[in-house]
Amino acid sequence: MRRAIYAGSFDPVTLGHVDLIERGARLVDELVVCVAVNPSKSPLLAVADRVALLEDVTSAIDSVRVTSHEGLIVDFARAEGATVLLRGLRDGGDFRDEMPMALTNRELAAGLETVFLCADPRYSFISSRLIKEVLHGGGNIRAFVPEVVANRLEVRG
Ligand code: ADP
Repeated sequence: MRRAIYAGSFDPVTLGHVDLIERGARLVDELVVCVAVNPSKSPLLAVADRVALLEDVTSAIDSVRVTSHEGLIVDFARAEGATVLLRGLRDGGDFRDEMPMALTNRELAAGLETVFLCADPRYSFISSRLIKEVLHGGGNIRAFVPEVVANRLEVRG
C-alpha cells in the first residue's frame, strides 16, 4: 500500500492544486490531502472550511482522503505510514523554496521521499496568494478556482 501526503495551506484550493491531486492520486494507492495548520498566519478560510472544500472538489476520487494537521508534516507522514510527500513546481521560485524543505524533511525522516510534479502550464501562474488579492480588490476569481470555491468565497463577500 503506497500512501502519499499532499500538504499545503489550500487557502483557498485552486485549479492548480486540484490538477496536482488528480495526477498525484494516479501514482499511489492513497493520497492524503492535508491542510497544514499554521497558527502564525491569519487565513482567509478556517481550517474546517478548507477541509470541506477540498472534500467537495475531490469527492469523485476514491483514493483521496482529506484531513488537517498542526505540526511537522514529517510527523504526520510517519503517523499515516506514508512514504511520499507530493509537491508541485510552478517555476524557479517554487524550486528555490521547495528544495530546502525537501532536504530538511529528508534529514528529519529517512525513507520519506519528496516527489515533485510539474505544474500544468494552464495553471502554473495560479497561486492562493494572488487569488486573495483579486478577491480583496473585488475581482472575479472564477478562472482560478473550482466553482464551489468561487461560490463559497463570493457568499463570504
Ligand atoms: P503553501 O505554499 O502554503 O505550502 P500551497 O497550498 O500554496 O501551500 O501549496 C502547496 C503545494 O502545492 C506546493 O508544493 C506548491 O508548489 C503547490 N502548488 C500551489 N499552486 C500550484 C499550482 N497552480 N500548480 C501546481 N502546484 C501548485
